[in-house]
Amino acid sequence: MRVSTDYFEFDTKGDFDVVDLTSRVSEAVRNSGIKEGVALVYAGHSTGVIVLNEYDSALLQDIRDFLGKLVPPDGEYRHPANASSHLVSMLLTPSRVVPVHRGSLGLGTWQSIYWVEAERRPRRRRVEITVMGE
Ligand code: ZN
Repeated sequence: MRVSTDYFEFDTKGDFDVVDLTSRVSEAVRNSGIKEGVALVYAGHSTGVIVLNEYDSALLQDIRDFLGKLVPPDGEYRHPANASSHLVSMLLTPSRVVPVHRGSLGLGTWQSIYWVEAERRPRRRRVEITVMGE
């Protein structure tokens, strides 16, 4: 089995800002040269989320509304400043595993990989891609 790692960084505007990661993850998979296996997409952050879903502007707004209802940003919490950001990240998690087939990401027709910023303020984020296989 071979293992290939890569990463990239990007900036977010805070407040459920969405950044499409699909093309950068696809590129990392292509560059790995691995044809069959899995890609782990992971961010070492505690206030963001990686989503596998349709990238459609109306749906993105629904996701923002949903997360805001699930964990109200101005609810009463003990952790200072950004408890709701941590709770969103705990529920949806900043990592995903996607199959790799014939050297490409094995996404479904309507699936994209995107970052949803759970932090209230702008942030610089780093996503790691670990491709494992043959
Ligand atoms: Zn915090």
